Amino acid sequence: MSWPSNDPSGLTKEEIIELNQKFATSDAALGFEVSDEFEPFNQLDDMFTRAFWDDSIKTKESDSFFNSYRMEFAPRRGVGFSQKDFALRNAAWAVSDIISNRSNDSGMREGFQSPIGYDTPVAKDKTRAENPEVESAEIKRLAKLFGADLVGITEIDPRWHYSSRVDTRDFTAAPNDLPDGLSHVIVMGHAMDAELVDTYPSALAGASTGLEYSHETAIVIQLATYIRNLGFDAVASMNDTALVIPYAIKAGLGEYGRNQMVLTPEFGPRVRFSKIFTSLPLLTDTPRPLGLRQYCESCTRCADACPPKALPFGEPTDAVENRSTITGVKKWSANCEKCFGYWAKLKTDCAICMRVCPFNRGNSWLDRLWFKLATSNFRKLALWLANKRGTRVRLKPKDWWERLHTPRSLSENEGRSEGVRF
Ligand code: SF4
Ligand code: SF4
Repeated sequence: MSWPSNDPSGLTKEEIIELNQKFATSDAALGFEVSDEFEPFNQLDDMFTRAFWDDSIKTKESDSFFNSYRMEFAPRRGVGFSQKDFALRNAAWAVSDIISNRSNDSGMREGFQSPIGYDTPVAKDKTRAENPEVESAEIKRLAKLFGADLVGITEIDPRWHYSSRVDTRDFTAAPNDLPDGLSHVIVMGHAMDAELVDTYPSALAGASTGLEYSHETAIVIQLATYIRNLGFDAVASMNDTALVIPYAIKAGLGEYGRNQMVLTPEFGPRVRFSKIFTSLPLLTDTPRPLGLRQYCESCTRCADACPPKALPFGEPTDAVENRSTITGVKKWSANCEKCFGYWAKLKTDCAICMRVCPFNRGNSWLDRLWFKLATSNFRKLALWLANKRGTRVRLKPKDWWERLHTPRSLSENEGRSEGVRF
């Protein structure tokens, strides 16, 4: 199969320059610099998509990585990779899978390679939505009612939209269209279960990812349906359509970290994000740089812990290591080829760089004090304390299963482990 072209989308150079100027202030808070050489990212170049069409990535191992999510797992001896571990992981994904597979015949993997289709139309009559402040407050409360842990709102910024989406029938480029009239993006954060994350790397830990995909599938469908019932357009979206990291940061939910994840003050990197594109008039939030990114400038814990050494140790750069790196953005970038190669070997996702991050912390007074230090001029002291404490050791999957039988049930701690974690 020939390589698809990295089509720099419908945005012209002039439009990119104009957007760079328009969003200069919020870009400055993103933690990465967007140059006029910027090119919107083509979803065909995403690692998970390349694993289907790019012979330099597609291997027997990558095929069996994907197949393992559909029963064809091969349990092995390593603790955390038993049939029970794979079974829990795959069960956690089940709801997300129902939606993402339902339009396979049309080449649309909903929530991943195309937005989630409308199950309800936009109501003919519009409700009165005259006060964006009131609407925004209501939308945020309702997103939380549906189950989101974090919510922020920002303007549509076409630079972060894929230049093309993927037709999953033959892995060719397809138009990444959205309806006219959309103006805002509601970005939601979904905290992953702390104790499952503590068991990375394991098939068991993958349940923390699957669970949040299944939760967010329901939440984006519910909130988009609510907005469409009000008479405004709403497109429910997960990993599809646009890069969610810049949107989450612009919506004030966190800062960009060395591990290529959004570091949130509440959960550190232990969060997944979803989004809704809407025409409902809303108030926008602004980025909230508290100093988490600044901490990363002195810390390399995630890069040290990464088994295939896929994370950067140095300063942010705009070097393009391979076609899965976006062009024209100066930032910390992982080598996604090395990272995905490791996932394929494991036959499950890896998030060691999430587990070991000191911002993946608990809620004890010591954790809160450490966070205050880490986001202040005393960050060097916080770094010293974190280093003195050492990287948190992996929770053995065997122990995770044993905890199910103790009175302290996993649901009692609302996704947070007890004790000091930083
Ligand atoms: S997910 Fe794992 S392999 Fe990938 S960058 Fe993080 S630690 Fe490295
Ligand atoms: S481990 Fe350290 S460098 Fe990596 S994201 Fe977390 S704070 Fe930043």
